Amino acid sequence: MADRALRGMQIGSKSLESEDGVVFADRFEAKYVCSNGHEFKIAMAFDAEPPATWECRCGEVAELVGEAAEEDESKNIKPQRTHWDMLLERRSLEELDVLLQEQLEAYRNGDLIFDTDYRRP
Ligand SMILES: [Zn+2]
Repeated sequence: MADRALRGMQIGSKSLESEDGVVFADRFEAKYVCSNGHEFKIAMAFDAEPPATWECRCGEVAELVGEAAEEDESKNIKPQRTHWDMLLERRSLEELDVLLQEQLEAYRNGDLIFDTDYRRP
């Protein structure tokens, strides 16, 4: 299981669990190559910073290569996608409007339930 975690899980047809009703967070795959030539990819959340190195299944330290590594250098030039941008890719403004109205109504009725995780003292 640990070995599998290191190589990363593939999302899609190989997944053992049903994806019905699951909304995946935007993600990308960071590619690593170890000194023994093993290549593997690790799925990361879109806004996660991929570590420069990752331990390969053979025990060697693998280095970050490819797009993710290059992106790191051009990060200051390339505009970051915001959470709002990502939201707009998943839902239309009309849908968001409906959700907003629902939330406003719940708020006015006093039964809006806040996620306690967001309430920091
Ligand atoms: Zn290796």
